[in-house]
Amino acid sequence: MSSCKYISTRGGVAAVDFPASVMMGLAEDGGLLLPESIPSFAGELEALSGLTYPELAFRILTPFVGEALPAADLRDLLARSYATFDTAETVPVVPLGGGLHLAELFHGPTLAFKDIALQFLGNLFEYILQQKGGHLNILGATSGDTGSAAIHGVRGKKGINIFILYPDGRVSPLQERQMATVPDANVHCLAIRGTFDDGQSVLKEVFNDLPFKRQFSLGAVNSVNWARIVAQVVYYFWAPFQVSKKAGRPADTYYDVAVPTGNFGDIFAGYIAKKAGAPIDRLILATNENDILTRFFNTGEYRRGSVNPTISPSMDIQVASNFERYLYFRVGQDPARTKALMQEFASTKCLVLDGHDPVFAAGKANTAETLATIKRYWQDAHYLLDPHSAVGVTVASRLHQGREVICLGTAHPAKFPQAICTALGDSAEVRQAAKHPALEKLLGLELRKTIVDPKRELIEDLIRQRLGGK
Ligand SMILES: *Cc1c(COP(=O)(O)O)cnc(C)c1O
Repeated sequence: MSSCKYISTRGGVAAVDFPASVMMGLAEDGGLLLPESIPSFAGELEALSGLTYPELAFRILTPFVGEALPAADLRDLLARSYATFDTAETVPVVPLGGGLHLAELFHGPTLAFKDIALQFLGNLFEYILQQKGGHLNILGATSGDTGSAAIHGVRGKKGINIFILYPDGRVSPLQERQMATVPDANVHCLAIRGTFDDGQSVLKEVFNDLPFKRQFSLGAVNSVNWARIVAQVVYYFWAPFQVSKKAGRPADTYYDVAVPTGNFGDIFAGYIAKKAGAPIDRLILATNENDILTRFFNTGEYRRGSVNPTISPSMDIQVASNFERYLYFRVGQDPARTKALMQEFASTKCLVLDGHDPVFAAGKANTAETLATIKRYWQDAHYLLDPHSAVGVTVASRLHQGREVICLGTAHPAKFPQAICTALGDSAEVRQAAKHPALEKLLGLELRKTIVDPKRELIEDLIRQRLGGK
C-alpha cells in the first residue's frame, strides 16, 4: 500500500505523513491539512456494506492512514474507540417516516456526534505518543459541548493531560456535570470567573507564550484536526448501506444526506466521502439563524455576521473553521488562490465565489420552525429529536424534492431538556422522554473543578502545579 501524504491548503508545508498530520492539527503555514489524493471505494460498495461499523471504519481509514500504522494496530484503535458506544450497531439508522431517516450518531459517552471522532482521536494521540515518546498537554476553552467530548476522548490516557476552561455558572448544569464529574487524574476542569470570550482570550495568551507552550508540550483539540474529519467519513458510507439493506436495495443506491452544520467539519467529511465513492447524491446543509454557510451556498457570498445564541448552541458560529478545506477544492486545488481568498476574508470579512456547486443544497431553520419540527415528530412518529437534529430535519423536509433523505442525528435530546420542554410543554411524560441513564448517573457525583480568574499567570501557575515535575 502506498503511503498517504498530507499537504496544506496554503501550500507552505512539506508533505507529512498521517501521524504527523494528527500531531500538527492546524498546518504550520496557517492553512489546513488535506490528503494529497483521495482514494476511491466506488468499486467495492457491496462488499463494504456487509461489514460492522468498526470494520468498515478500518477499511475506509486504511488508505488515508497509509503505511504509518500497522493494520492490526489501526484495527485495534478503532475497535476500542467504538466499544464505548452503548449499542452494538454503533450508529443505528431509524426511519422517521415520509422518506426521511435519522442516523443516530449520539450513542457515544457524551451523547453527541463529536464522540465518533474524539474517541478515536484520544486513542490515536495515546498510540502516537507511545510510539514516538513524549507527552501532550491539551488545553481548550469550551462553551459546553466540545469540552466534554474531548475530555471523554482522553480521560485516563497515558502521556496525556487535558485542561478545559469554561465560564463558571454559564454552561448548563448538565454540561458542567459531563465535564467536571470525570474522576481521572489527567482531567483538569478550570471554571473561570468570566465569560466564554474571557476563556478564549486567556487561552490565546497562554498559547502565545511560546516558551511556556514548548516547555509543557501544549496542544489543542481543534475541530480542524484531519483525524476528526476522516473518522466522520465512515458514517457517510455506513448510513446509506443500512437504509438500502433494510429496503432490500443494492449497496450503490444513492441518497441525499442532511447535515446540521456549524464549523463545516461534519458536512466536509460528507464531501470527502462523496469524492471517495459513498452513495450520496446531494449534501443538504442546514443551519440555524447563524447562517453564513446557507448564505454562501445560495449566493456565493461568504460574509461574516455576528453570532446569535439559539437553542442549537453547537451550531452558533459565524466563521466555519473547516470552510477553507472546501474552498481549496472549489478553486481547483490552487493553494495560492485559497490563500489569497482567505487573506481577503480576514481583512474584509467577506469573500465571493462565482458559480454554484450542485453537490450542496442549503437552508436555514429558525427557532420557531425547529421547535415545531420537534413537536411534529414527537406527536406523529413518537420520536424525540434534539434541537440540532431538528434543524437538519426541518431543512430536509423543505428541500428533499421527493427523494429519500438520511438526516444526521447529532445529539441525544436528553442533552437539551429545556428546548424539549419549550417545544412540547413541561409534563411528566415529556420529562421522562427527555432523560438518559448516562446523564442521570451523574447527578449524585462530586464536581471536581478549580475556580480561577482568567489571568494568564494564574492559568500557567495552575498548569505548572498540576504537571509537577513532568
Ligand atoms: C458540533 C455539533 C454540530 C455541528 O457540527 P460541525 O462539524 O461544527 O458543522 C451539530 N450538532 C451538534 C450536536 C454538535 O455538537
